[in-house]
Amino acid sequence: MSSSYSFSKIESFEKCKLQYKYRYIDKLPLRIETIEAFMGIIVHEALKEFYELVKNKIIKPEKWLLSKFDELWKKDYKDSIKIVKKEFSAEDYYEKGKKCLMDYYEEYKPFDQTKIVKTEESVFFKLKQNSDEYKFTGIIDRLDWNDKEKVFEIHDYKTSATLMTQEEAGQDFQLPLYQLALLSKWPEAEKTKLIWHFLLFNKQIESSRTKEQLTEIQSLAVDKIKAIEACKEFPPQKSVLCDWCDFQEICPLWRHPKKMEKLDENKYKKDPGVKLVTSYSELEEEKKQLKAKIAEIEQEQEKIAEAAVEFAEREGSWIIDGPDKQLVVTVKEELNAPSRKEDTEKWEGLRNTLIESDRYVEVSTVNSSMLNKMLKSWPQEFIDKIKGFLSKKTIKKVDLKNKR
Ligand code: SF4
Repeated sequence: MSSSYSFSKIESFEKCKLQYKYRYIDKLPLRIETIEAFMGIIVHEALKEFYELVKNKIIKPEKWLLSKFDELWKKDYKDSIKIVKKEFSAEDYYEKGKKCLMDYYEEYKPFDQTKIVKTEESVFFKLKQNSDEYKFTGIIDRLDWNDKEKVFEIHDYKTSATLMTQEEAGQDFQLPLYQLALLSKWPEAEKTKLIWHFLLFNKQIESSRTKEQLTEIQSLAVDKIKAIEACKEFPPQKSVLCDWCDFQEICPLWRHPKKMEKLDENKYKKDPGVKLVTSYSELEEEKKQLKAKIAEIEQEQEKIAEAAVEFAEREGSWIIDGPDKQLVVTVKEELNAPSRKEDTEKWEGLRNTLIESDRYVEVSTVNSSMLNKMLKSWPQEFIDKIKGFLSKKTIKKVDLKNKR
């Protein structure tokens, strides 16, 4: 049997293989605590203590729950806790956590809906597939017995800022694995309610799994574990989660930016990497300005070309002389093939005639430039045949040539 797996271990591998390697293979210590994780832990702890009392039929008032939250927050809060979203302060997260508990209390008082079996219950069981077995561990936030419906309820508290959809609840992988763990102890757990409390939204989401679905989930979990054990390459996977990752300072994607954050302005500007980026980005800016200038010049040339055509037509002079160069003006009529968008019926008629006459291979597609090339070599008889599909177009152009 291999090492033990948890939902967060499997999830870490799926989100970023390199993070998985740092954390579970190299076993590097976790040093960064983020404010979101801290707030979640304190809310979970306050609810755990509250429900331990509920289990013994002691229902404390809301202010007890809030002062427990306050006590735990003040005891454990450290200035080193990382606040990734700079627009929020630690105070904002404190208030958010408190609001979660106030809403929760209002929603579920008087807390007599179910019987509390366990709070923060560690589960251990073996995931099986044929002869393969893998140890799985997890923590159930709260396990209740619903005596009216005679079912277990697995409750999971979430303090995340995104709300799970009902469809996502139907596809979730974590709570069904906990249900499998319960099943190894209680056959009644075959029917279990899976309940998520999205505390920031004051919303409860419920789902359940059939026996067949649980078998599939077990098999899927084993497949995921096998993929982890077979993995030889652990590339970094850049995502929004990087800002919350403990290993940014050693990760090949982030180690330079993280190192630069610690330098003063002087040392920062002298860093060879910073110099490369600065030069590259200056050239990029120059390119942008040159492109804009070229577009401006082309517009100006366009206007001069129009004036040159007018001049040539007025003067009856198709070569206009200049100091070193000459402008050669051409005004001619060309046969024009319709585009499919302009006239689908004609485009299809022309295409079919070309195909039927074995000429389609010569143009390979129906467009004016290919057609005009071929019109020079096609017999008049065939040109007459397709003339009805074509229209005449006046071409006016100007070419700059060296003087002979
Ligand atoms: S910083 Fe991002 S890419 Fe690097 S290990 Fe962490 S999650 Fe992966």
